[in-house]
Amino acid sequence: MKEDLKILQIIFKNARSKRQKCLICDENSINSHLLQKNGILNLISSKNHITQIKGNDFFKAEKDGIIGIKSVGINNAMSYPLFCNYHDTNVFAPIEKEEHNLDLYTNQLLFSYRSLCAELRKKMINVDIFERIKNSRQFATNTSLIEMAKSQIEANSMGIQDLNWYRNIMELEINSSHNSQDFIFQKIDFDFIPVSASASYSPINPEEHTFEVLKNPENILNYIFINFIPQKDKLTLILGYHRLKKDNWILEYISSWKKLSKSEFKTKLTDLFATKIETWAISPEYWNELKPENIKAFKDYWNDNANNLRITQSVDFNLFE
Ligand SMILES: [Zn+2]
Repeated sequence: MKEDLKILQIIFKNARSKRQKCLICDENSINSHLLQKNGILNLISSKNHITQIKGNDFFKAEKDGIIGIKSVGINNAMSYPLFCNYHDTNVFAPIEKEEHNLDLYTNQLLFSYRSLCAELRKKMINVDIFERIKNSRQFATNTSLIEMAKSQIEANSMGIQDLNWYRNIMELEINSSHNSQDFIFQKIDFDFIPVSASASYSPINPEEHTFEVLKNPENILNYIFINFIPQKDKLTLILGYHRLKKDNWILEYISSWKKLSKSEFKTKLTDLFATKIETWAISPEYWNELKPENIKAFKDYWNDNANNLRITQSVDFNLFE
């Protein structure tokens, strides 16, 4: 048992620290920031750190719970090995400027493209992890673990296939090889709260998404792209989807962010962070001001529901009240 955990730990570490290629070319990737340091993350940092929510590996989860709350240096915050230095600098130049215009379609697309690429990379690393587990001599006789690894490989590969569908269309638009605008974005401004988020989310409806439906490669799941971008005097939310990949849930979810009172907004933010996405960050000072009982409720919810992807989830606490 102890040996098993040790091997799993090594597998996770090796897969996560492995050098990755740029998602666009064959060069090695650097650590790409989902949200830039200057002009965005520095607005919610203190002493060059921000507090980030990260899932713990399952061997660590036994001891510390599934969710890890970590203070991260701003240079490593909200970053993944996505692109080489050239592509990271050039593709995203329009939104890396201090004065980025969040009303521009191209800029809204770039934020969404980067969050999609991070989700893609996470799924690629997951496939690598579970391939290593499946092929490890250590687990050759552990049938249940091997079966789990196989179904993880299958699920993550299906996700990769879906994400690549969006990625190809986004890249065509970013390269301006055609002038269509296939994505619909909504920009909504809120009073400033020191949080940020950048994620892609696929709403799973248990009634509609049976295993057969999920397994069929013809079915590209609907995705929604979510970016919370702190500005000097406000917090801007950009929500987006592909015009052919929408459903009632997505449309209603987007309009549900409009015309909220302050406390309704905080409840919705809690729901987003607790039930839908995991790539978000918060200012360390603001995190320390949150009520301990709310933080506990948040952590408990995560520990019970980390693998629950269903849209039917709802939370009965407000992390920010
Ligand atoms: Zn590159």
